[in-house]
Amino acid sequence: MSIETSQRIVIKIGSALIAPEQDGCRSRYLLNIAQFIVQCRAKGKEVLLVSSGAVAAGSHLFKNKDKSSVAVKKAMAAAGQTEMISTWERFFDFPSAQLLLTHGDLRDRDRYNSIRETLFTLLEQGILPIINENDAVTTDDLKVGDNDNLSAMVAAAADADCLIICSDVNGLYDKDPNKNPDARLLDTVGELTPEIYAMTGGPTSSVGTGGMRTKLQAAEKATSHGIVTYIVNGFNEDTFSELLNGANPGTRFLPYDTPMQEAVHWMTHTASEQGELIVEANEFDELSCDDIVAVNGDFSAGETVLVRNEDGQRLAKANSNYSSCLLNFIAQQDKDIVTEKVQDSIGPVISQNDIAVFEERNS
Ligand code: GLU
Repeated sequence: MSIETSQRIVIKIGSALIAPEQDGCRSRYLLNIAQFIVQCRAKGKEVLLVSSGAVAAGSHLFKNKDKSSVAVKKAMAAAGQTEMISTWERFFDFPSAQLLLTHGDLRDRDRYNSIRETLFTLLEQGILPIINENDAVTTDDLKVGDNDNLSAMVAAAADADCLIICSDVNGLYDKDPNKNPDARLLDTVGELTPEIYAMTGGPTSSVGTGGMRTKLQAAEKATSHGIVTYIVNGFNEDTFSELLNGANPGTRFLPYDTPMQEAVHWMTHTASEQGELIVEANEFDELSCDDIVAVNGDFSAGETVLVRNEDGQRLAKANSNYSSCLLNFIAQQDKDIVTEKVQDSIGPVISQNDIAVFEERNS
């Protein structure tokens, strides 16, 4: 299981590689990466690029502004995005396409499917998709927030089989390598246990938003979709030749033996819950109004909810066919009559195919 056998690769590049001095884009580290992309394509592989760097690239245009302000950051992203894309385009003699996404797009099932369709069509045409978060339009509630997790969501949406996350360290160490000279680089990780998460320190770079923790979250999202994931040092030029030779220059995360089904993966790792249903039963195939003890939060029909039991234990994520408003209304009526009438026309609150049950990793 290496790059050699992978057919569709997502490569994530952080801001520090693109705009190391935060005063516009630099080609210093990108040349190697571009060459890697060209060589992968020459070997018949499909590549998608998730590129950060819009904020860092646009920063120098806002010298007299408060750069901690959200409004300024969004404007820096809008201005820097064009510079970032044109920097990448200079390296390639094949066409590329820009996709700017928010979590609001990815967690909506119809828009998610629309994104998948666009990605597949671009790849079919040999066009390189270059993806970033649409920072200029997003809000706290609608953003992914870091491109590590975004790259894993994109890898899942694109049905990729390999995700390469370029970092400024060589991979995952058993302790913080900046503080511990004896820290050991982990070659292969089979399961992302709490012990593995405990090995992460704070953010690895002052440019960009991700850290080792978001990289592990991304690895969890990707491996559960059957995607082998690498964290490698993007600053080291040998990284890319080693990858091309089938070696592992960083830390490799093994994909699940039995990946989650597409819809279950999306609900578990991409959709975010907008409210909660409290139920009596610990196991269920579907849920009717009678099964629901309480409703928390405001959600519309079709949105994802968390299902908990009365002890507060998280049982599943599911798409609710009813809004919270309707469920609260039904709870106040003569249940037998209303429930029967409403359920006859809408069907169950949660249908069998719309449930992602939380369970232990199956590998
Ligand atoms: N979307 C942000 C940008 O382009 C980067 C987010 C991140 O660093 O992960 O600047």
